[in-house]
Amino acid sequence: MLKSVLFTLLCCMSLSAQAVVILQYHHVAEDTPKVTSVTPAQLSQQMAYLHDNDFKVIPLSEVVESIKQGKALPPKTVAITFDDGYKSIAENAQPILSQYGFPYTIFISVEPIERHFHSIMDWQTLNRLVEGGAELANHSWGHEHLIRVLDGETEEQWLARIEKNLLSTEAAIKKQTGQNHKMLAYPYGEYNVKLEALLQKHGFVGFGQQSGAAGPYSSLTALPRFPVAGAYANFSSLKVKINSLNMPVLEMSPLNTQLAMGEWRPEMKVKLDMSDINASEVTCYILGQAVKPTWISADEFSVQADKDLPAGRSRYNCTARSKSKGQYYWYSQAWVRTKDDGSWIKE
Ligand SMILES: [Zn+2]
Repeated sequence: MLKSVLFTLLCCMSLSAQAVVILQYHHVAEDTPKVTSVTPAQLSQQMAYLHDNDFKVIPLSEVVESIKQGKALPPKTVAITFDDGYKSIAENAQPILSQYGFPYTIFISVEPIERHFHSIMDWQTLNRLVEGGAELANHSWGHEHLIRVLDGETEEQWLARIEKNLLSTEAAIKKQTGQNHKMLAYPYGEYNVKLEALLQKHGFVGFGQQSGAAGPYSSLTALPRFPVAGAYANFSSLKVKINSLNMPVLEMSPLNTQLAMGEWRPEMKVKLDMSDINASEVTCYILGQAVKPTWISADEFSVQADKDLPAGRSRYNCTARSKSKGQYYWYSQAWVRTKDDGSWIKE
């Protein structure tokens, strides 16, 4: 008994200090869609902030290894990621990042490269960035909605198709660049329990697009990232995110992000390590509204939408101020659902 109490104390005193904030970018340009872009001036401001405030920017593969091995991450650790491999990364982001010596990871899909899409970097450019210290990782073959079962496809056929998709993407990246990190950023941030199990089977880790600080309490197949673009690039709120902590989630349910037909108001239950959190400080946000959680016990709460989540992707976000540090613990749960007739929204 004493041993387990001691373990809990030691475990959580050290773990609560650990968090890594993973930033997710797409375009760095003036003339690309605002909702997925920051300007070069914004990126410069953000990188200067990290540098001037002694944040440690480390490669994403190192973040994964530390979490996997339960190794301590230094406080104020950040990782930088770009999705899709747009040319503006080589043209505008790389010069800013190299000024500070910051490493970064680009999640790429193979098909747009092979088909020479106008806005996408070619293998030669990607290899040049790798020589400068960039990491390349998996963003699926053709940027598919990976959880969508096609018409006439059985679930087994779907899973086999996705398995082949992810493994051939990984093999192509390795062949063209020598990079092989087994890190997948889910296109559109969409995943479900079966896809997560597939990643686990192959030793892959998965990154979503739900916000939150990553760390020892995160699932390795649903690692959070803070999207930085459009309204989410607002500098003062971004600073709060960059300083956020890994919410000490001990248990949560339901585990499947993909909602069952008709169950469009998931009741999320979360059990926390409360050693650095006051229950009254926990606030959740659902469909743009602040929601006070219902406490089931001293360390477990539930929250639920009071209307149906819309077809497509939604999130429940929960934050809590740290008692000792004044920063915010930040946790987000992704949900995804079909339309009422079982079909998916077009995008
Ligand atoms: Zn993408």
